[in-house]
Amino acid sequence: MSMVPESAPGLAITWAHRIITEHAEGRGCGQCRARWCPTAEWALWVVVTEHTPPPGEGGKKLVTTVARQVLTAHWPYGVDGCRPCGLPDCTRMQVAATWLEVVRDNYLPPAVQALRPTAVPTDDDLRRITGMD
Ligand SMILES: [Zn+2]
Ligand SMILES: [Zn+2]
Repeated sequence: MSMVPESAPGLAITWAHRIITEHAEGRGCGQCRARWCPTAEWALWVVVTEHTPPPGEGGKKLVTTVARQVLTAHWPYGVDGCRPCGLPDCTRMQVAATWLEVVRDNYLPPAVQALRPTAVPTDDDLRRITGMD
């Protein structure tokens, strides 16, 4: 997956669809970390920015599954912000949230409820956190 060419949009989207499908089906790839995957995040970014989910009836659902995985992995647990990125302003989470907004999926990472059962973010909190109106 390290051979993904960044200067070939047509090819990039083909790679992205393959990567999205692999991660949505739980197969992962050689770049997968314990809780997140840079390759899957790249694929999600390509799909979201090009507004092109994998073809077929289940295409959008595959993207939604990966978006949920990314949101779960990057959800900020405290003042340190996102763990994988170490940033309070995580662009990967924004990409995932953008997709979930588009398909009107109200997913919340399980960690939110497990760690802060009395402080589950509202829709307004989510929009503020992700910088989306
Ligand atoms: Zn992976
Ligand atoms: Zn992050």
